[in-house]
Amino acid sequence: MSDHVLVINAGSSSLKYSLIHAGSGEAAADGLIERIGESESHQKHRGPDGETESSDPIASHEDALRAALDAFEKHGPSLDDLELAAVGHRVVHGGSKFSAPVLIDDALVAEVTELVPLAPLHNPANLEGIKVARRLFPDLPQVAVFDTAFHQTLPPHAYTYAVPAEWLEEHGIRRYGFHGTSHSFVAEQAAQRLNRELADVNLIVLHLGNGCSASAVQGGRSVETSMGMTPLEGLVMGTRSGDLDPAIHGHLARELGWSIDEIDKALNAKSGLKGLAGENDFRELSRRRDAGDEKAQLAFDVYCHRIKKYVGAYYAVLGTVDAIVFTAGVGQHSADVRSAALQGLERLGIRLDPVRNADPAEDGVVSTGDSDVAVLVIPTNEEWEIARQAVALVDQREE
Ligand code: ADP
Repeated sequence: MSDHVLVINAGSSSLKYSLIHAGSGEAAADGLIERIGESESHQKHRGPDGETESSDPIASHEDALRAALDAFEKHGPSLDDLELAAVGHRVVHGGSKFSAPVLIDDALVAEVTELVPLAPLHNPANLEGIKVARRLFPDLPQVAVFDTAFHQTLPPHAYTYAVPAEWLEEHGIRRYGFHGTSHSFVAEQAAQRLNRELADVNLIVLHLGNGCSASAVQGGRSVETSMGMTPLEGLVMGTRSGDLDPAIHGHLARELGWSIDEIDKALNAKSGLKGLAGENDFRELSRRRDAGDEKAQLAFDVYCHRIKKYVGAYYAVLGTVDAIVFTAGVGQHSADVRSAALQGLERLGIRLDPVRNADPAEDGVVSTGDSDVAVLVIPTNEEWEIARQAVALVDQREE
């Protein structure tokens, strides 16, 4: 059997897929279907012949996966020739139950369904992807890889909210953390670049994409992370507020008469950089900031200040830090964010090299040679991590 895995990430109206070789991480193909259920959908497939696009309407996730399979047949590579090892599914919320990837069966589907109240926006879409893929690939092992799994090592004092104890016992209200697949992948890569065993290094990982999260990773185990029961807590994000005074909810409800759903939507979809400057795309925000736009500047400042606060907090949690790692779209590409977020931390042994930071070399090191804490820029690859975990689980089962 080959080591190729079809990795599926199903959103509420989208389906992303990649065909990944678990050993090398090479993507033989990938694609995206957006606006499922609308009058005009959008499909993109990139294979050996380059990229193809179409805008035929696609009514459901099942039709979307069928359209993806058609694209594989027409434009390659042939899934029959490659003999898939597994289908890997990104599942956002695994609650307290899942700290590792799991082979999907009816019982697992039922358990992920039980977690829907904790992730009403994400888990139903992930489940839809699982159901459809099980119908279309009935003979292949299917593996669920949870965004929360890596953070299941958080100690109770880090994951417990200071609220009535029965809220946790009866309703699962605690911090879970997300982006775990990315934090885990990047932590392992960082140890390799430092030429150290993962078990021997302490890292602060900053995943700065559309969603943003920080984690403190001690010897390969996540011991703190910024996202909470949902992906709303923590850093400032593209459209999400991150941390705020929880009393603001009550104020908005009482004083403005807003419903809970309106408040939820405003904090998840209309806040963050978009709320502050009307722009959630960081590249565009940077262009406006460079042109002297004050709102863009304030949004940038709030964003970087929040990162700095988390770096300081996680430094204290870890005691000693070997490296700070920047990843995802903004983390990898914005030298300005790295420099503003770490400015003035020389007394903590964190020294950025302005030349390296402006244009990171292949090794990703952007700190000075004498910096006690290495600062690294490492591209994340969640699809590869999902493929690796899926193949490892399937191999283990076959042994
Ligand atoms: P997702 O969380 O959806 O995977 P990404 O990791 O792709 O997101 O990050 C998307 C963000 O990265 C966007 O705000 C985008 O503007 C930003 N970004 C991408 N390239 C650059 C760049 N060269 N400079 C600054 N920001 C960038």
